Amino acid sequence: MSKSSLITRRFGLSLYGGLGLPVGITHDVGRTNNEHEKEGRCYFLKRNIFDGILNQETLFVQKEVLRHTHQPESLPHRDYERDQLSFNLVEALKGDIPSNMILYGVTGAGKTAVTKYVCDQLQRKGEAIGRLVHPVLVNCRKIDTQYRVLSHLGNALLDDHEIDDIPFTGWPTDRVFSELVKRMNERGGVYVLVLDEIDHLVKKAGDDLLYNLTNLNAELKNARSCVIGISNDLKFTDFLDPRVRSRLGQQDIVFNPYNAEQLQDILRTRANIGISKDAIGPGVIELCAALAAQEHGDARCALDLLRVSTEKAEQEGVKIVEQSHVRIAQAQIESDQVTPVIRTLPTQQKLVLAAVIINEKNGLRNIQTGEVYHVYKQACAHIGQQFLTARRISGIISNLDMLGLVTAKTISKGRYGRSKEINSCIPTNIDPCDIMAKAETILTEVFSAKYRQQSKL
Ligand code: ADP
Ligand code: MG
Repeated sequence: MSKSSLITRRFGLSLYGGLGLPVGITHDVGRTNNEHEKEGRCYFLKRNIFDGILNQETLFVQKEVLRHTHQPESLPHRDYERDQLSFNLVEALKGDIPSNMILYGVTGAGKTAVTKYVCDQLQRKGEAIGRLVHPVLVNCRKIDTQYRVLSHLGNALLDDHEIDDIPFTGWPTDRVFSELVKRMNERGGVYVLVLDEIDHLVKKAGDDLLYNLTNLNAELKNARSCVIGISNDLKFTDFLDPRVRSRLGQQDIVFNPYNAEQLQDILRTRANIGISKDAIGPGVIELCAALAAQEHGDARCALDLLRVSTEKAEQEGVKIVEQSHVRIAQAQIESDQVTPVIRTLPTQQKLVLAAVIINEKNGLRNIQTGEVYHVYKQACAHIGQQFLTARRISGIISNLDMLGLVTAKTISKGRYGRSKEINSCIPTNIDPCDIMAKAETILTEVFSAKYRQQSKL
């Protein structure tokens, strides 16, 4: 917009000001051109930052469809798992008790999506044929104590107008359990209690909850119940009492990770609804699927890549998402995930990670614990920190491995016992030294100091 047109607009506003807008605006009349020029710039600055972006053409039709929270109507490559679940849960529609089940699989394998879909269909069918079936889903990562799960279940059974809530905390657990049984008996029907991410709760709080819930039918007079446990950890039953394990694992379903072709189908189905036709360039879906397949076949990761790539293309103002946008999206997603993990490591863990990186910068690969320890001690000395024992460092290395910042492979050294081969595995677009130094300035000195290395290259 030219300056003159800005001035005209300003006058325009002045006129309106005279017709009732705030008096301040009419003060413009009679100013010099110079002042109006300044005002013009000021007006320009006063434009809302969203003006441009808001009107920008979007490449999405329904962005929501590409988010994890969206419950898709079709779930390609999960017919078998869906059928296994529904063959069992159909018993509820007949008034019988379905078997308890455990569903296993890595994250992003579709466990939650398939279960929600089947439960939703079950409830609808129950309503249609006048059978009382009540699926209740609890996410045990969010609701992660026995008390809270029981109170959540109890409160989920209330009708909208009922306000007699079980308090968030305070009752003895037995009382919450009895209240739950009472409410289930009052309402009757068959309850399908889905405990999602149950491995999280069991590792944190033990298996009492599962013991109690898999025993519910013994307490219920006028209702029936079954428990569906969903776990990201295949070995989670190792944490269970054998009695609970046999009662819960009457039937298992394993959700295998998706391969690249399956992820392509999933992405296409969602993109067809969520993204404008012709907006996806050649090879984009294939690349998102291939990258996610490397990440243990995680559909969530594939969807994130496609959504963020499309956002990147949109921000660039282009009409087609290209493979280069996927690369940018991948770098951003990785950085968003890894940066806070590195930033929030406790100081000692940062120092151990720093020791691994310093060794690598000096050309070492497959670094042994002793070499990490050697450099770590020097790093502590440089910044006046007490150093921990070699045993503790070994524990910290395992933790860094668990967080995905290093890989630590245990190797046997014959009669010299066992050692670890450590390598950092932080994506190359991320600078861990910079992140650590910014988080704790004292660490700057760690990275600028000189080190003696244990082994010769
Ligand atoms: P899990 O519970 O196994 O970690 P989710 O069920 O939460 O995985 O799936 C992660 C994301 O991927 C969700 O957005 C889900 O809708 C989507 N997803 C998973 N499997 C499929 C599929 N077969 N078809 C379409 N979307 C899927
Ligand atoms: Mg899940």
